[in-house]
Amino acid sequence: MKDSLFLEIIKAEYLDGYRIKLWFNNGRTKVIDFYDLLDGEIYEPLKDISNFKDFSIKFNTIEWKNGADFAPEFLFEYEKMENKVAEPQAEYQATTKSAESAPVLNAHNKEEFPPAHTAEHLLNQTMGRMFGCERSRNSHIERKKSKINFQLDRPLTADEVAEVERRINELIAADLPVTYEFVTRDHIPEGVKLNKLPENASDTIRIVRIGDYDICACLGTHVASTAEIGNFRITSTSFNDGSFRIVYKVAE
Ligand SMILES: [Zn+2]
Repeated sequence: MKDSLFLEIIKAEYLDGYRIKLWFNNGRTKVIDFYDLLDGEIYEPLKDISNFKDFSIKFNTIEWKNGADFAPEFLFEYEKMENKVAEPQAEYQATTKSAESAPVLNAHNKEEFPPAHTAEHLLNQTMGRMFGCERSRNSHIERKKSKINFQLDRPLTADEVAEVERRINELIAADLPVTYEFVTRDHIPEGVKLNKLPENASDTIRIVRIGDYDICACLGTHVASTAEIGNFRITSTSFNDGSFRIVYKVAE
């Protein structure tokens, strides 16, 4: 082990989502999910996964292309705050030891505003049906304004955007119930893709259905039925290098 007065990050490797594995000069490694750390002007661009992946080791820590970085000490302590003390060379351990009866689930990353998050489900399904795109893996859901990016080879026309909005408001007006079902990993209903779940997700998975319209695995918080979303409005869109961004608002 190298003897240094200062804590340094000597290597970093991208895993998935917002997770990066870090090697410290004290011989320890840890996996950090940066999602909750990406607040503030300099970190905001990193919410875009392609920017997030663009990092290197500079001045003994991890630094992104736009100059954003974190102190090695902060990152080393960060997991400790969540009671996840890193062991030398220990791999990340999913805290999902099954309890006796109740299904054990991973905690959701962030409490999202339920009407906006439920609208996200409808939007994912609608975009898939209309344009054949995958469910978004890049969204930022908030009470005031939500952003979601879809991989598309062209931007939608104004008419198409209006049609997406119209269909979602139709689904809201239909007041579809949101229902839940717990399944084990080997009994996943057809049509459910698990690519949004972290690799270390627990063996019990919660399936969320919105009427017969949408089905997906999710641990977020939803409204009881779609009428609670109130109203769905797309406030702006943009297109950049194969990524179509929709900014939307729900019930004001
Ligand atoms: Zn959800």
